[in-house]
Order: sequence, then C-alpha cells, then structure tokens
Amino acid sequence: MESTIHHNLAVIHQRIKAAALRSGRDPDTIQLLLATKTVSPERIRIALLHGETLIGENRVQELKEKYTALADLPHQTHFIGHLQTNKIKEVLRYAGCIQSVDRPALAEKMDHYLQQEGRRVDVLLQVNTSYETSKFGMAPELLPSFAKEVAARGTLRIKGLMTIGLFSAAQEEVRSCFRMLRTLQTTVRALVLPDVSMDVLSMGMSGDMETAIEEGSTLIRVGTAVFGTRIYPDSFYWDERK
Ligand SMILES: *Cc1c(COP(=O)(O)O)cnc(C)c1O
Repeated sequence: MESTIHHNLAVIHQRIKAAALRSGRDPDTIQLLLATKTVSPERIRIALLHGETLIGENRVQELKEKYTALADLPHQTHFIGHLQTNKIKEVLRYAGCIQSVDRPALAEKMDHYLQQEGRRVDVLLQVNTSYETSKFGMAPELLPSFAKEVAARGTLRIKGLMTIGLFSAAQEEVRSCFRMLRTLQTTVRALVLPDVSMDVLSMGMSGDMETAIEEGSTLIRVGTAVFGTRIYPDSFYWDERK
C-alpha cells in the first residue's frame, strides 16, 4: 500500500512537470491537492509523510474525522464538495479554504458566521463551466456580479476560481471548460475588486490534469491517480440533491 502511494505520487509529480514544461510553465507554480474523499486517514498519512501538504474533502463528517486523525502532521485541508448551508459552521472550523462557494445564499450565511466569530476565510468561487445540470457551481454569466457581491462582504477573501471540467473523453471539449475559467479570471481581475487576488485557478483532476495545466491551472485536485478507484460513485458526492 505504502509503495503504491509513493509510486503514484512520483508519477503525478512527473506528469505535472512534463505538462508544465510542455506549456512553458514553471512546475513549481502548480500545487497538488489530494482529493481524499473515502480515503482512510492511514492512507492519507502515507502521502503526507511522503511530503504532500494539501488535501481536499467533500463531506463534513470526513473532514472532521480526518482533521482529528491527522492533527499531528502539518498539512492544510480545503473543502471541495457541495456545501449545504446547515454545515457551514463546522466546515469553517476545519477547512482553511472553501473552494465551492457557488451561490449568494451560501455566501450570505458564511458571512453571517464569520462576522459573529470576527474572522475571515479564504475562498474560491466555483463555476459550472460545462453547463451540465448535474454539476454545482455558479453559471459563468453570473460570476462577475457574484464576485462583486462576495468581495463587498469583506469576510470572504476571494483567492481565485474552481471548476470541474466536462466528463468527456474529448479533451478539446474539456479544454474549453478550463479556457473559460481562465477567461473569467481575467474578467474578474479587470473589475479590480478590493482584496481579491484571483491568482488561483483550481482545475484538473486525474483524467484531465495535463489539459488543465496547459490552460493555466495553478492547483490540480487528484484522487484516483494517487489512491485508486473509489467504492462510491462521484454522484454520491456531487449531485445527491439534484
Ligand atoms: C473527487 C474529486 C476530485 C478528484 O477526482 P479524481 O478523478 O479522483 O482525481 C477533484 N475535484 C473534486 C471536487 C472532487 O470531488
């Protein structure tokens, strides 16, 4: 188990490097987040001891359990799943960045809690670049006004954008999703919103990370290629309520 995870990580870092160099980018500008849904703390521990520092969870229960189980190892956890408003308080307690801020009602509730606690949190705005109805994320057309609204709240520090590319073998269609996210980054940057940095483009997973890197990804979220196939279908995590 240990050697498989080590081997898979070495392959991923090699893939990152190759894709970066091919597109004239510095490999060090691309962060690897391990998507650890359904992965046991013991297996995550192997990756962290190997030098990884960033994991992403989709569910509050797992976020909490692994936070406790891995508290002795330095690392950061992002929340990358659909966030229900009744779970905000807990997610804010354990996650250093929420990548899935995708609707005004959520931003409003998050702001409410953060004001009460007198603190701020890093967020990414999630965009539905594939227009698939099963995917969460803000409609691309609504993003500029949403970004303005979130920035005005002051408690949510926008660091960039997140998207899940189209599930398709046609890499050119997947590529257009990533390209759209990059265009939106430029659009939001042009608004020059206070305290909004927009440097992070979280895009690319096991099957499409090379394409994402070629299109400017600064953070790839990889699960299967490191830990193997999951038991549960991803729909269990993404569109259970749709
Ligand atoms: C599970 C997950 C990933 C990783 O997907 P893999 O195909 O296993 O690499 C990336 N992003 C999100 C939001 C996820 O839920």
